[in-house]
Amino acid sequence: MSRIAYVNGRYVPLRQAAVHVEDRGYQFADGVYEVCEVDGGRLIDERRHMDRLERSLKELRIAMPMSRVALGAVLRETVRRNRVGHGLVYLQVTRGVAPRNHLFPSPAVLPAIVVTARSSDAAAAERRAEAGVGVITVPENRWARVDIKTVSLLPNVLAKQAAKEAGAYEAWFVDADGRVTEGGSTNAWIVTADGALVTRPAEEGILRGITRTVLFDLAAEEGLKIEERAFTVEEAKAAREAFITAATAVVMPVVRIDEVPLGNGAPGSIATRLRSRFHDVAERSSLFARPAG
Ligand code: PLP
Repeated sequence: MSRIAYVNGRYVPLRQAAVHVEDRGYQFADGVYEVCEVDGGRLIDERRHMDRLERSLKELRIAMPMSRVALGAVLRETVRRNRVGHGLVYLQVTRGVAPRNHLFPSPAVLPAIVVTARSSDAAAAERRAEAGVGVITVPENRWARVDIKTVSLLPNVLAKQAAKEAGAYEAWFVDADGRVTEGGSTNAWIVTADGALVTRPAEEGILRGITRTVLFDLAAEEGLKIEERAFTVEEAKAAREAFITAATAVVMPVVRIDEVPLGNGAPGSIATRLRSRFHDVAERSSLFARPAG
């Protein structure tokens, strides 16, 4: 089946989908994005992803390209046209198209929007989770506004490629004090000897992951304590468990950090339990767009 993309008001076959060469996303990485999990054909945590999209746009002074309800309809239609049961929907908004100049276009131009959706192999993800993944550590070299979900991802691209070449799944950025910030496309967590979940405060150099936020609700249900604080690479290597969270990975157990096996080298029971229960707590959207809170 050929894939369909939504580009600035039109649904087009993916191979014909294109943006203008003077799109500021292409020229300056002047744009933001969101990735939502799709499960059972429904969007997972749409409301929170849309809240974060609005925040990212506001921080960069880019207008919403359309109302939330209209955007919800486009996301669903893109999922439907691509027949995605399980997978991801990707949404990108840039400041728009204008002759190349660092300054914001004046007068302002319409923001440009692209939405794509693709299926992913749920069974392969489960197999990965059953084996657990490795992470490497790399020096933090990103700008200070990683709280904004911008398409400016070059350090993340290089870090994740380094992980891949080292036989790992993710790279954890480490700040100047030796403390883990987050992964190239995931938030980082460890579990202490007494079973508390530790994750860095969202205000301190990380993206406030939606999966991370949902995990706070799940931890409360499970009676697990969360310590919102930074942790060092040494503490992580000696931790009882570690895991990463993202819409693209849900909860993924980490079994190796820089070649050091964690515990007995198998996925931890807490990470595995949180993964299995995640969708009980996450919000599942309706099939039809409606004003979201
Ligand atoms: N941190 C970074 C740098 C990311 O790029 C992502 C997701 O893309 C996350 C964390 C996890 O965020 P979410 O749970 O909203 O997918």
